[in-house]
Amino acid sequence: MSETVSTPQKTNLLNLDSEGLKAFCASIGEKPFRAVQLERWIHRKGVSDFDQMTNLAKSFRAKLAEIAEIKGPEVIKDSTASDGTRKWLLDAGEGNAVEMVFIPEENRGTLCISTQAGCAMNCLFCSTGKQGFSRNLKTSEIIGQLWTAEHLLRKDRGITDENERVISNVVLMGMGEPLQNLNAVVPALKLMLDDNAYGLSRRRVTVSTSGLVKQIDKLAQICPVALAVSLHAPNNELRDKIMPVNRKHPLEDVLAACKRYLKYAPRDFITFEYIMIGGVNDSLAQAKQLITLVQDLPCKFNLIPFNPFPDSGLQRSKEEDVKAFAKRLNDAGIVCTIRKVRGDDISAACGQLAGEIKDRTKLSSRRAEREIVIKEISRLSQAPLE
Ligand code: SAH
Ligand code: SF4
Repeated sequence: MSETVSTPQKTNLLNLDSEGLKAFCASIGEKPFRAVQLERWIHRKGVSDFDQMTNLAKSFRAKLAEIAEIKGPEVIKDSTASDGTRKWLLDAGEGNAVEMVFIPEENRGTLCISTQAGCAMNCLFCSTGKQGFSRNLKTSEIIGQLWTAEHLLRKDRGITDENERVISNVVLMGMGEPLQNLNAVVPALKLMLDDNAYGLSRRRVTVSTSGLVKQIDKLAQICPVALAVSLHAPNNELRDKIMPVNRKHPLEDVLAACKRYLKYAPRDFITFEYIMIGGVNDSLAQAKQLITLVQDLPCKFNLIPFNPFPDSGLQRSKEEDVKAFAKRLNDAGIVCTIRKVRGDDISAACGQLAGEIKDRTKLSSRRAEREIVIKEISRLSQAPLE
């Protein structure tokens, strides 16, 4: 009979924020300053081999090699669009893969990262949502995206100075609903902000949510960063149909949570994302309703022309309709920008991130439901709103 030898699992240090690293070091009899040294080697320098951590005692390095590892997600595919936008497909185990996107601009570099394999929120207009939900990503897989991208990009550009960063902004706008995975997301956010890791300011780290009310309040308490809320409809009737989460957290509750968040937020406004879907939510009557809806809340709008994906059954708004909608908001004193479509030729735009998800939810019944909803919303948009 063969004997089964179980090897104890190594601790992946990418799962630990600075507090976690201190606790880990304490558990093996090492002082807190060792945790700081480790954090700097891992996150500031991007080193994963303990032997290269030359200011750590040899015995400590040997112990680390025995019980710990530094392992980011594995890159499966790496593509660059004609506009410089770069997308990576990352292995998330068990047949799942998630995506992250780097968007270079003149004076900043933004990394858009994923927080879940798939998404359970089932928004009608979203390719990730269409695939269903598989699992939450771990902290190591979330901060591992920034760790991988920052150090790969530095290497590509020949940057050796650890104070020179390529990524200046991080947005949690990839696959998944970040606030449904707060336990893993918060330590990752803390590392993004930590001076011994990435040292980003709270204003340059943005969490985007479909509007989970309790979790917005929780984020305000434990790690307030910039908040973007996906609004996408000016009334509950339409939002219920295109974002099922609205049936549980209607607009008035989401807006009240935004107001509470402002007391803790690093910015004095909330960003609202608003997809422009042709004939669904893009009329001037709907713009007017939106203005009334947010009149008591300091906010900015980011209009995102709908990015199509196979079998979405929806269309992007016409350019002139997007401009007219934006003008109506601007005229009412609301700052409003129209998001440029980036990385279109590699499907790296908002809501196009698909990865490969082994769905564990009822995909076929959801597909049938989608078809019914699409018929209903086109009827809704034809009815006069006022
Ligand atoms: N789950 C979070 C964050 C990920 S989605 C959220 O929903 O906010 C990031 C943004 O992309 C959201 O505003 C989302 O509504 C938008 N989005 C989803 N599908 C899209 C599509 N097909 N075209 C344009 N934007 C899309
Ligand atoms: Fe999930 Fe956001 Fe897509 Fe909705 S838009 S399905 S919340 S990822």
